[in-house]
Amino acid sequence: MAEKRSVVAIAKELDPVTGKSDVQASVTKVFDLMGGVTKMIARGDKVILKPNAGHAEGPETAVCTSPEVVRAVIREVKKAMPSRIIIGESAAIGCDTLECFEVSGIADVVREEAAAAEAAGEKVKIELYDIKRDNDLINLAVRDYKSNIKHCKIPRLLLEAEHIINLPIMKAHASMVFSCALKNIKGTVQDQVHSTMHQQNLALAMMDVWWAVRPDINIVDAINVASGFSPHTPTPLYVGCIMGSKDPVALDLIACDVVGIDTNAVSYFKAADEAGLGVADRDRIDVIGEKVEDVYRKMWIPYLGDMASRWPEWDIRCEGACSSCQALLALNMETLKALGLYDEKSDISVLVGPRNELPDKPKEKIMLHGNCTKRYQDKGLFIPGCPPGETGLYLSIKAGRVVDGEIPGDIENYIRPNMEADHPVWEAYVNKKAEEFYGMPVDQLAQH
Ligand code: SF4
Repeated sequence: MAEKRSVVAIAKELDPVTGKSDVQASVTKVFDLMGGVTKMIARGDKVILKPNAGHAEGPETAVCTSPEVVRAVIREVKKAMPSRIIIGESAAIGCDTLECFEVSGIADVVREEAAAAEAAGEKVKIELYDIKRDNDLINLAVRDYKSNIKHCKIPRLLLEAEHIINLPIMKAHASMVFSCALKNIKGTVQDQVHSTMHQQNLALAMMDVWWAVRPDINIVDAINVASGFSPHTPTPLYVGCIMGSKDPVALDLIACDVVGIDTNAVSYFKAADEAGLGVADRDRIDVIGEKVEDVYRKMWIPYLGDMASRWPEWDIRCEGACSSCQALLALNMETLKALGLYDEKSDISVLVGPRNELPDKPKEKIMLHGNCTKRYQDKGLFIPGCPPGETGLYLSIKAGRVVDGEIPGDIENYIRPNMEADHPVWEAYVNKKAEEFYGMPVDQLAQH
């Protein structure tokens, strides 16, 4: 039997006058390289576009899929004369999807494209869709589930649409190292499933959601990617590409190659390989269009590396920790440095992951980060979660007690005021680190 191969298309079209990215031309080129939009989508089909709009962040941050990329995909898909183009999202827990659509600029684009289609007498309906607010759900039994998601409630609309186009932006991610095609599909489930996913191995849970919701086309926004301490303190970086594939695993692998991420250090690929979701072997991936080496731009991604030796003044015990908790360790330790607390607090030990011995220290000098350390919870300050909240570690070290939002009033009276006060210092620190890495001012890194 012939071995399974996958194709990944890369386009980087530039405006000949301005020299800037021609987003529409790049999107069209990627669809053409993949066989052409009218071959992939039939007249009258319902098409869901799933951008990444999970946080209320503006287009200048590169945290959400660029509204101009969403516009270009809408215009491309329209060529196939579908009956509906539905732009759907279920924003991160605690975030309002419609607010995210507004702040990201996607809502404006959808309204403009809908009005233009109507004015031109086109039959296609172009609309926003908040997956969180949909009550028409189907409870699917997940076959061969890999996590404990045996059943998954998915909106009927997603299951009955002829096509789902997964439309992520490439970005560094504090709790998953990076986010692209595979992770973006987490935004198709409502909060209850979302929360279940975070209480176990997130990478395996993502594979189970992929089994239930299977986008057939994946288009990546890699025009400006969010590097550094994204998604909350991103450093946008111009790469200038649109990428596409029917295989999300192959696409994420090649997207990592384009920005220089070590894929061996990311737990997604092993999980995706085991789930049989796509091709994770470069020898079986055909890259068409631009060559990786011609569009390569190294992205600053501080969530990878040897965490045990990275802060030698501290006793960090992270044997067996998965990439999610390691990334959070990087975020929180660097925050302590930024705030000038790193030396002062360095008599504290931090335990992360399942395979670490308890040091012989007083309870208040031992931080237990994440559910893997729960067995020691009486012997240290235990921050629950899998992974825990993103800033729980530094806030707990700063306060000398567990700060996990469980104490009534703590979010309003301690967590928010501290994070707001710390943010300018942290942001200045991140910008300085980014400038050191890239060798140029941060305001010159992205294309606007
Ligand atoms: S607690 Fe942290 S290290 Fe343990 S499984 Fe969860 S995310 Fe991974």
